[in-house]
Formats: sequence, structure tokens, C-alpha cells
Amino acid sequence: MKQRQPKREKKTETAVFEEKRSKKSLRRARFRKKQLATSMYFLLWAIFSALSLLIVLFSALMQRYVFVQSYKEQAARDLLEKAQKIESTVHSAAPEWTGDNLSGYLRFLSREYDLRIYVLNEDGVILLPQEPNFNPEAPEVEEMLDFSAYMEELLHNLSESGGTYALYESSGEYIYASALPLFQNVKTYLFIGQSLDLLHTTLAQMNVRVVLISVFVFVLSFAVTSALSGWLTTPISEMTKKTHRLAQGDFDVDFHGSNYSKEMVELAEALNYARDELSKTDHMQKELIANISHDFKTPLTMIKAYASMIMEISGDVPEKRNKHAQVIVDEADRLASLVNDVLDLSKISSGIEVLQRSSVDMSAYVYEILDRFAYLREQGGYTFEVDVDGGLVTIADELKIGQALYNLIGNAVNYTGEDKKVFVSLKNEGEYFRFAVTDTGKGIKAEELSNIWERYYRSSEIHKRPVQGTGLGLSIVKTILERHGFAFGVDSNVGAGSTFYVLFPLIEND
Ligand code: ADP
Repeated sequence: MKQRQPKREKKTETAVFEEKRSKKSLRRARFRKKQLATSMYFLLWAIFSALSLLIVLFSALMQRYVFVQSYKEQAARDLLEKAQKIESTVHSAAPEWTGDNLSGYLRFLSREYDLRIYVLNEDGVILLPQEPNFNPEAPEVEEMLDFSAYMEELLHNLSESGGTYALYESSGEYIYASALPLFQNVKTYLFIGQSLDLLHTTLAQMNVRVVLISVFVFVLSFAVTSALSGWLTTPISEMTKKTHRLAQGDFDVDFHGSNYSKEMVELAEALNYARDELSKTDHMQKELIANISHDFKTPLTMIKAYASMIMEISGDVPEKRNKHAQVIVDEADRLASLVNDVLDLSKISSGIEVLQRSSVDMSAYVYEILDRFAYLREQGGYTFEVDVDGGLVTIADELKIGQALYNLIGNAVNYTGEDKKVFVSLKNEGEYFRFAVTDTGKGIKAEELSNIWERYYRSSEIHKRPVQGTGLGLSIVKTILERHGFAFGVDSNVGAGSTFYVLFPLIEND
């Protein structure tokens, strides 16, 4: 008991360590998963926000541009209309009015239209209206009323315009300027300014609104993308979980692609299809192992039994010994062909082998293949009826095509009826020629027809087999012909035999 104690402790320590390690890797996996989910969420959010912000900013800029343009046009039209009215009134009234009257009238118009109206001399000195309490010492008033700085611009714009007046924008206001002769010896100018303050206030308000809308868009896109990413990723993560289960051999998983998207439904369908195929292959592989083990075991048992017989009984009797040795040779051949079939199929279907294409005279080649069945003709009582047109050439991998036709003829021999007859033909049909091999056997049931080409499939029927079969023959044929791109098929009537055929493209023989 005492000796066991430390052992148990050791086990516990290892178990704790393992547990810690697996928890750690689980945490790591979860973290990685979280990271991935976050990145998808972030991606959606970033795209969505950027797009919405772009739209907001673009429309804000467009709105601002259109607003500024139309406001300015309207302001210019308004100013021109008012200014010309004021100008003609002042002009016609001036001769009779005194400076005071005019000053009062201009002040009245300024208030009425909310404009700055002045009559200036060439140096920018205000001649009208005269301020009764004008105090040149007060700086803000002085600054407001000192036009000498603007005079150069005013005169320049006036001469540029070429007409009687100039309309221009300067220091945040629209200005109407014209030469207005009021006095005989002094050049006088009418200055009317309309402030653009309203425009700038409105633009500032618009900016605030754009900022508020942008914040709102950010919040909205956050909410929408949260919902959207959940909506999009939930079925995907569910499918991922199920795919893991599938990878671990659980073929009962069922993939659903929630009905909102065609692509998700298609993905689910594809995964279900992959599951079915995997489960079929898994099932067939298990069956193959069972079949192959059985097929390997039978000749091995025979070899062992006959070798023992030679050692114990027939070793000294040459006739018997040879007979027993022949059984060993035959069984070894059977084993060899089984191994070859398994190897062939794995090589062909893995695509490791590249097809060695060349022109093949099939008319001659069919006879060569048939020669391999000579022992059945001579010793097994089989009859081969052959009808081959001459000079039929195609481009193919000679060895592989030979193997395919050999398998088809071998099957016909295996499955033909009591009369042991097999018909082989090669007929020219124009653009292609048809190889066909027909037997007189039990035929293939309609429901089995699509399965016979599948790997590892063997019918449940028990047949007498002069040629060894592994259940791989037709899938080797199918793989070879598909890789060549040749059409092939089978016609079968239950009770009346089957015809397997291949269509070869005909190449001109020169
Ligand atoms: P195997 O002949 O070794 O069983 P194959 O892949 O060549 O394997 O054939 C698969 C199955 O197709 C066979 O088990 C058999 O049921 C069926 N089959 C093939 N050829 C014929 C035929 N000529 N007549 C009837 N059944 C056939």
C-alpha cells in the first residue's frame, strides 16, 4: 500500500498538468476565436461607418456648395436691385436736397434695407451721411468709417467692370459701388455694403449639424453592424462547430444555412453533400478493409495449408507435390493482383501519375488484350466472339487504357452466364469508335447501376470468379476514362446480361 501512494500522487500530478494544459489551449483557442470574431465585426463596422460617413460628408459638401452659390446669387441680385433704386432716388433728389436732408435720407435707407450706404470722395472720406456727433477720437467709429483702405479696391473694381457700377465681395460683405456725381468740383462715389453675416452664421450652423449627424451615423453603424455581424456570423460559427464534429467522424451532423441568404443555403447544401460523400467513403473504406482482409486471408490460408501439405504429405510424391505447388502459385498470383489493384487505384485517383498519351492502334490492341485471356479460352471453356473494325486509332495512355479494357473484359468473364460467352466489338461510328463488351449473365439491377462505378462497391450477388475481383475494377476503369475524357457507360437487362462500352475519339491514321 505504501509503495502505491507516491505512484498515485504522481498520476494525479500528471493529470492536473494535463488538465491545466488542455484548459490553457482551450482558452487560447477561445481567444483566437474571439479575435477572429472581433475582426469580422470590426471589418463590418469600419466599412459601414466609412461608407455612411462618406455619404454624409459628400452630401453635406454638396449641400453647402449649392447653398453658398444660390445664397450669393440671391444676395447679389437683391443688392443690385436695392442699390439701383437707392442710386436713382439719391441722384434725382440730390440737387434740391441739402447735405443734412440727404444724410438723414441715407440713414433712413440704411435702416430700412439693413445696408451700409455712404457717399465717398476719391480718398475714401465719407461725405454723406455726416454724423452730427462725429467723434474722430473714438477708434471703433473711426475704423468703421475709414474707407481709405478700401478705396483702391473700389476704384479698381469700378474700372474693371467697364460699366457704370461694380458688384463684388470683400471682407465678408457684398459691395455695390458706382460713380455718383453729386457735387460740381468733387468726384463722388456711392458705396453700398450688404453684410454676409447671415451666410456665415448659417454655414457655422450647418457645420454643427454635420458633426452631429456624423456622430449619429457612427452610433447607428455601431448598432447596425452589431446586429448584422451577429446575424451573419451565428450560422457560420454554428457550421464551423459542426464541421469540427464532422472532421472527428460524426456523420450525423446536419448543416442548416439559415434561409436569409442563398449563399448560406448553398454552403449548407455543399457541406451536407461533403458529409454524405465522406460518410459513404468512410463506410466503403471500412467495407474495403473487411473485403480486402478477407480476400488476403483466403489465399494466405490456402498457401499455408498447401505448403504444410507439401511438407507433411506430398513432398515425396512429385505429381501431388506439383499440383499442390500450383495451388500456391495461383493463390500468390491472386494476392499479387489484389495488391496491384489497390495500388493502381490509389495511384490513379491521387493524380500522382501523369497520363503518357500517344496514338494507339486500338484495332490491334484489343487483340493483344484478349490474348491475356487465352488460358480461359483454351482451358476454361470460354468463348470470345470478336468483331473489330480495322485501323481505328486514338490518342491515349496505352497501358492505362489497356488496363481499363482488361478490367471490363475480366468482369464480363466473371459475370457471364452458363454458356461462358463474351462478345467483344470495336466499331467505327464516324467521329468516334465504340468499344463494347457484352456478357450473357444475370445483368445488373437498375438500382445498382449507379453504384457499380463507385470505389469499393461489390454487389451482394455471389458469382463464380475465374478472374480475381476486388471490388475496385470498375472504379479503376472510371478513373482512367474520366482522366482521358472519354465517354463510357453500361446498358444492362436483368437476366439478359450487360454491355459495358467506351467511346474513343477517332484519329486519322496516316
Ligand atoms: P468486382 O468485379 O471485383 O466485384 P468491379 O468494380 O469490377 O469489382 O465491379 C463492381 C460490381 O459491379 C461487381 O461486384 C458486380 O456486382 C458489378 N458488375 C461489374 N461488371 C458486371 C457485369 N459484367 N455483369 C454484372 N455485374 C457486373
